[in-house]
Amino acid sequence: MKEIFPSIGYKSGELYVEETKVREIAEEVGTPVYIYSKRAIEKAYREIEEAFSKVNLLIAFAVKSNSNVWVLKVLKELGAGADTVSVGEIFRAITAGIEPKKILFAGVGKREDEIEFALERGILMFNVESEGELLKIESVAERLNKVAPIAVRVNPEVNPKTHPYIATGLRSSKFGVDFETALKLYRKAKESRYLKPIGIHFHIGSQITDVSAFEEAASKVKELVKELQSRGVEVEYFDAGGGLGINYKPDEKPVPAKALAEALIPHVKEVNCKLILEPGRRIVGNAGILVTKLLYRKETPEKLFYVVDAGMNDLARPSLYKAYHHIEPVKEISGERIKATVVGPICESGDQFGQDRPLPLLKEGELLAVFSAGAYGFSMASNYNSRPRPAEVLVDGSNFKVIRQRETLADLISREF
Ligand SMILES: *Cc1c(COP(=O)(O)O)cnc(C)c1O
Repeated sequence: MKEIFPSIGYKSGELYVEETKVREIAEEVGTPVYIYSKRAIEKAYREIEEAFSKVNLLIAFAVKSNSNVWVLKVLKELGAGADTVSVGEIFRAITAGIEPKKILFAGVGKREDEIEFALERGILMFNVESEGELLKIESVAERLNKVAPIAVRVNPEVNPKTHPYIATGLRSSKFGVDFETALKLYRKAKESRYLKPIGIHFHIGSQITDVSAFEEAASKVKELVKELQSRGVEVEYFDAGGGLGINYKPDEKPVPAKALAEALIPHVKEVNCKLILEPGRRIVGNAGILVTKLLYRKETPEKLFYVVDAGMNDLARPSLYKAYHHIEPVKEISGERIKATVVGPICESGDQFGQDRPLPLLKEGELLAVFSAGAYGFSMASNYNSRPRPAEVLVDGSNFKVIRQRETLADLISREF
């Protein structure tokens, strides 16, 4: 196979995911359809696992990046835990068989009922984002007569000027707390009968391709851990968050997980902690594609548009973040390429998958693959324009399974009666 991304590429002029022909899936399941490679997920997971084999590591998969229960089951089999941000995600993780003792609960706005659900299931820890939340967790724990294990999410304040991709580890962000507030929260937690501080957490951003930002953050947080340890707070888990980037272009290489390991491990060892990572995109991003059909070739005096049957409701990243997603036809076509702008059917100008992309001249009805759609693809899909959400398919070798059926028209209005 001529790989475009791991386990996805051309063979005899046709696009394959592992040993399965993409065209056959599209013919049977219809379009648009998300297709994931089990092997690619496993490979990406193992790369991280192997890079960190010298330390005690929990890989808590960021469920928000791809929440399908069958994808979570693949990760569960590999030994993964789950990083969750809502009761819905905890429910999905538990449904997939992930042990509660490997589940983290993060997010700035945890509701009381969500805290209760998590406490009753016995999750590993709450990543706490504010004093108000800490007190809320304490009161729920008291009511249930339980002890809530917590970590405080801190802002390492890594300089955004040198690391432009980072947007969540700053003083001005809504996430986490500064180090001084953290010390106060740990003191409160230590004094409480219903709270038990067991870890520390930071997450500096997403799609990070320069590991020096991780190194800088880990170094700062390590100093805070030392201070906590000197105050008698036992910090067992050092949770360095997610955010490891991927290559969205096939001819670029991702930062090796080894580089992340080298940036983090010395600091974690120095304070004798177990390490937690919360990768999402890095594990599933390049393991998925969105397959869509060319509906119309629309030529205007200015541009050639390829109007496809997937829209921004199915894959929001290009319109939301101007994100680049590689696009190729499912049938390998050599020779001359023209510039085409690939757009969806939604009534918004931002409904685009790529501007002026070099693509072959395609006939209406041909299939296109939008790559790197495994993370923040289906999980961000909506019903905007009253479009039923697409099907999801998991490929395993030469077999495939529909892991989420395409929504129907009846699904669209089922909650309105
Ligand atoms: C979004 C998020 C992640 C996952 O980020 P990726 O870039 O997909 O690795 C992990 N942890 C937290 C706290 C997050 O908000």
